[in-house]
Amino acid sequence: MIRSFRLQITAWYLLLFTVLFAAFSIFFYEVLDRALHKRLDESLSAAVGTAAGLFRDEMAELHGDATAAAREVTSEISIQHVLVAVFEGNKLLSSNAPLKSAELPSIAARASGTNRSELRTTLPQYGKHGARAVARALVVDGKHYVLLAVESLHSIKSDLAVVRNVLFLALPLVVLIAGIGGFLLATRSLAPVRSMADQARHITDKNLNTRLDIGAAHEELQVLADSFNELLSRLDQSFETMRRFVADASHELRTPLSVIRGEADVALARDRGPGEYRESLAIIQDEGRRLSRLVEDLLNLARADAGHANLRVEEFYLNDLLAECCRSLEAAAGARQIDLECRCPGDVAFRGDQELLRRLVLNLLDNAIRYTPAGGKILVSLEAAGSELRILVSDTGIGIPPEAAPYIFGRFYRGDQARSRQNGGFGLGLSIVKWIAESHKGTVNVTSEPGKGNTFPVQLTR
Ligand code: ADP
Repeated sequence: MIRSFRLQITAWYLLLFTVLFAAFSIFFYEVLDRALHKRLDESLSAAVGTAAGLFRDEMAELHGDATAAAREVTSEISIQHVLVAVFEGNKLLSSNAPLKSAELPSIAARASGTNRSELRTTLPQYGKHGARAVARALVVDGKHYVLLAVESLHSIKSDLAVVRNVLFLALPLVVLIAGIGGFLLATRSLAPVRSMADQARHITDKNLNTRLDIGAAHEELQVLADSFNELLSRLDQSFETMRRFVADASHELRTPLSVIRGEADVALARDRGPGEYRESLAIIQDEGRRLSRLVEDLLNLARADAGHANLRVEEFYLNDLLAECCRSLEAAAGARQIDLECRCPGDVAFRGDQELLRRLVLNLLDNAIRYTPAGGKILVSLEAAGSELRILVSDTGIGIPPEAAPYIFGRFYRGDQARSRQNGGFGLGLSIVKWIAESHKGTVNVTSEPGKGNTFPVQLTR
């Protein structure tokens, strides 16, 4: 099995070419063979025609002496290599050369018996190469005569032999030239593929913005290059996202870590009273909690990116889950004088990952509490219509400016009001909400009125 594509193309090309050349040679040889025979027949026909005219004239002149007229004819008509003979029935009257075949009288007899003007036949046994004979019947003074012209096939056969030899010699030469030509053509056609491979070999994660260039000519290969370039664009984009994610994550990790280290350094710089130590430890504990939350969020997103966040699917009541979430954040909402209400119908069963959905609701509630001023209200409700479920988390908080709305579900996006450390977000909460909704084949959106509040509808299907 040939592994080189170039050689395979050349081999196929060569095979096709050889078959075509052989077919053409056979066809050409056949046509030539027929043409040569036809020409021979025509010249023999012309010879008997002339001989017949002459025979009639001589018969008139010699007052019906057929033998003398025949002799006149055969002596006057002298065409190289052509035997001319005059028969009466099957009896030879005269010929310009000795008859080489005993078949000729019987041909003459056959011709005189028919009313066909001319009889054409091949004599395979005539001489070394066989011959072609044309006989013409003639009636003069009520008697039947036959004029016969015979020519050996020698010259036709030797002409055909020359052509055959030329074709046999030409075949290997033509095949050789075609093979070299085919190989050069295949090499030339595949050159852009080689060039693409060379260019692709030099593309690494450092220069993913490079694109393959194969010039303007090759339309078919352009499709391949375009697909490869699109793949590079997608890779480039995901590498960029990954780089940004790592940079943002490191940046977020650095802040709490430096707070912890700074606080510990200050506390240990000299002996302090128990109150001061407690204060430092409380700050360290607080930052430790932030760190754990951040690490957990990052882990969740890493699972999402890896594409195999195995959902622990189980059946549970979504209304119970919402009620639990509200209960667990009631104190936090109360501390900020926010009214938190949960309006859920009874027993809405759902199959999904309970832990992840709890995180989704808690993230939305956490945001609602953080971005709603004292005296505000948060409402969690659940709507069920057939297989469609909708969780709505609404607040009367600061709302989201329209220009920020497209970005809030992006990673590490934080609104202006959220940048202060006491609000404490990392900009990952909503991207986790989006991932959880989508991993349950659902969606999450936002409708917002700046200054008046937001509603986050989470659409799920059971
Ligand atoms: P963060 O940890 O900063 O809250 P999120 O991903 O949860 O990160 O939210 C992204 C941004 O969306 C927030 O910084 C904030 O500007 C805006 N946002 C989210 N929820 C609300 C809300 N309920 N009210 C107003 N703004 C919100």
